[in-house]
Amino acid sequence: MESRDVVVVGGGVSGLSFAWNAARAGRKVLVLEGSERLGGCLDSRRTAAGYWYELGAHTCYNSYAGLLEIIEATGLRDRIVPRGDARKRFAFLRDGAIDMLGPISVLLRFDKGELLRNVFRGMRASKDGATTCGWYSGVVGKRNYSRILAPFLSAVPSQNVDSFPAAGPGSLFKKRARRKDVVKSFTLDGGLASVASAVAAVPGIETLTGAVVREVRRNGAGFAVHLADGRSFEAPVVSVAVPPSMAAAQLRADFPDLASELARIGMAATESVGVVVRRDRLKLPEMAFLVPAEDIFWSAVTRDPVPDPGWRAFAFHFRTGRTEEERLGRIAALLQVARSDFEEVTRRMTLLPSPVLGHDRVVGELDRMLSGSRLALTGNYFDGLAIEDCVQRSRAEWARVAAPS
Ligand SMILES: Cc1cc2nc3c(=O)[nH]c(=O)nc-3n(C[C@H](O)[C@H](O)[C@H](O)COP(=O)(O)OP(=O)(O)OC[C@H]3O[C@@H](n4cnc5c(N)ncnc54)[C@H](O)[C@@H]3O)c2cc1C
Repeated sequence: MESRDVVVVGGGVSGLSFAWNAARAGRKVLVLEGSERLGGCLDSRRTAAGYWYELGAHTCYNSYAGLLEIIEATGLRDRIVPRGDARKRFAFLRDGAIDMLGPISVLLRFDKGELLRNVFRGMRASKDGATTCGWYSGVVGKRNYSRILAPFLSAVPSQNVDSFPAAGPGSLFKKRARRKDVVKSFTLDGGLASVASAVAAVPGIETLTGAVVREVRRNGAGFAVHLADGRSFEAPVVSVAVPPSMAAAQLRADFPDLASELARIGMAATESVGVVVRRDRLKLPEMAFLVPAEDIFWSAVTRDPVPDPGWRAFAFHFRTGRTEEERLGRIAALLQVARSDFEEVTRRMTLLPSPVLGHDRVVGELDRMLSGSRLALTGNYFDGLAIEDCVQRSRAEWARVAAPS
């Protein structure tokens, strides 16, 4: 069996940032990625004409201190591109009509009487122990929540967020310190997957794609990682950085308690379709994203905040269970173009966690079980979904397993 100092299972931003921390500490790291592409939800695509767009994550903020450290250390600082004016515009699709909005005008769509009756008391209520539906309904009123706020909040993780915790692990929003020397909201020239390629090129990091991990077993004082194709690797430190349902399957044999705790975390699937269209074919105004009140998709995210003279791109995040015909037909109808106007159509399937009240206890239990072990668990199901949550979790896990025992 080949051995390494550290083996990382999963080549998304959680696994790669873990690998980066380990390599920076001088370790030889192997990252095993099951698909043919590194990055996971950092999924930037490029057309034959060189135009790039995002099928997954699209926006970073100057509060992403951990990610910025990696961006700077891997020489990507010059590739930071501020998100332009279109970031402030978005559309609400209701009763078949597109309503163009901004951060202020969206407030005018709320029923003002209901808002005023609730907002002052609601804002003072504690978020602790509250669901997203419970707390935000308390602030804007129940009808305002279900008519307007819920579709926008659900657009963030492409699933119904009513039962998400309003605060703490698994909640949608976090307050973080901002860096004044970086623009508030940015992407990278070439797309956010540039981070994945840059980390993969760091000395000490070796990556294998198409390497589907079947299980992680105990192996003396360390671990053995077994691939579906029969290959195996051993290491004193292993970091599992795949969605929790998959981590549970990989750990079931030798870590049954961890596996059953991981299996408590619900998951939601989204089917995303990206389309690229020539700019002159489209009448739709530039906007950052479009959210429907009720439709077969949760949201559509555009590349308009980084405009291109020739092209526009849209990533539609669909509910599951629809046919390709239905999805492409819906996109063409909304963009008011013929399907032959799609210069490129790309697809991805995503599994995201669906945290509910009590998620903090699940995370606490996982951390308790990991304590004293050199097995690391990282991902977007600890603090939250944001890229920075993943990077911070990986940094903390590396610090834990690297500490002398
Ligand atoms: C559409 C979308 C838009 C988003 N937008 C933003 C945004 O704008 N800003 C932001 O901060 N966050 C955003 N997020 C959230 C953020 O991108 C993700 O939470 C984060 O990238 C997840 O990283 P991860 O490494 O934990 O998981 P993943 O990215 O899911 O990576 C896990 C990796 O493990 C691999 N894997 C799975 N099973 C195996 C196996 N058996 N063997 C080997 N490898 C395996 C997968 O192929 C994958 O590459 C968005 C997410 C989505 C889906």
